[in-house]
Amino acid sequence: MRTAQLWHWIYYRGTSSFEEMLNISKAFRLRLSERFTLARPQIVSEQLSRDGTRKWLIRFDPVDVRDRGAEVECVYIQDEDRGTLCVSSQVGCTLTCAFCHTGTQKFVRNLTAQEIIAQLIIARDRLGDFPERAPPEDGIVPTGGSRFVSNIVFMGMGEPLYNFENVRDAVAVFSDGDGLSLSKRRITVSTAGVVPRLHELGAETGAMLAISLHAVRDELRDKLVPLNRKYKIAELLQACRTYPGASNARRITFEYVMLKGINDSPADARELVRLLKGVPAKINLIPFNPWPGTAFECSDDATIEAFSSIVFNAGYASPVRTPRGRDILAACGQLKSETEKLRARALLAAEG
Ligand code: SF4
Repeated sequence: MRTAQLWHWIYYRGTSSFEEMLNISKAFRLRLSERFTLARPQIVSEQLSRDGTRKWLIRFDPVDVRDRGAEVECVYIQDEDRGTLCVSSQVGCTLTCAFCHTGTQKFVRNLTAQEIIAQLIIARDRLGDFPERAPPEDGIVPTGGSRFVSNIVFMGMGEPLYNFENVRDAVAVFSDGDGLSLSKRRITVSTAGVVPRLHELGAETGAMLAISLHAVRDELRDKLVPLNRKYKIAELLQACRTYPGASNARRITFEYVMLKGINDSPADARELVRLLKGVPAKINLIPFNPWPGTAFECSDDATIEAFSSIVFNAGYASPVRTPRGRDILAACGQLKSETEKLRARALLAAEG
């Protein structure tokens, strides 16, 4: 009974202090507040794009003496009928996808499940998306009657399948019907293709799957998504064919960033269609979002259009993702924070 009460206060009502839990005895509330805290991580900054996209830089406290805290970015993209929160799973990333800004930041550490969940709690706090709260004064929230955060995508910083246990636990909390209550069909985990963990992801979380594909030939994908040197395209697609729960009603999303003169020819589009045979797929074409120092350029509109029609005529939905939040570097592949790992000497000092 106590667990259900606490769960309701924390995840359904979004309470940030034990004091407010009036159906729990004063003595027990006191004991809880002596040992635990519901305080939110610090929001270092909040940026609001011209198109209504919001980006938060969130600072987490150190988890041990070796850690000096961590900063991650988290982005909220509002549409008329939905609100999507793009969460981070790691600080930095071990993978170095050539077109991705996060990939230029050295990996610092995995986020804990509670740090992943905190990103949703913070978003709901800021958007007034808990019972009896008001939306922000700028009023930029979905108007179609959905919850303000109705969808979660693990497409922020990091490779979620290299932090599997914490991502799995966070998905379980996100989707619990007595708490944050997001439908699993609206939670998407995006991976660069960590093949050995795909089956587990589907079986243990029931989340939707997205694959950062970006190339249809191994020589090119080896360069764009270096993880491909370990798990080749054929092996990755075979794992997708047997992904638990995938069906025509629950399609796997294939993300494909459009890079001028690199992966955007009609022959690439035809090969993409050939490769995806037998996979319940939809294809998300992402115009490349530039970031400081990148050598890539975005394909031009006509090329994207031609690519999209080949895919569409083969029977696949192939929406071109409208870039959101570019002016605040909140668009796909643009996230990065300043957090770095402690150098060896600082580590010794911290431990001493
Ligand atoms: S695309 Fe994803 S996996 Fe690749 S470097 Fe960026 S954050 Fe890491």
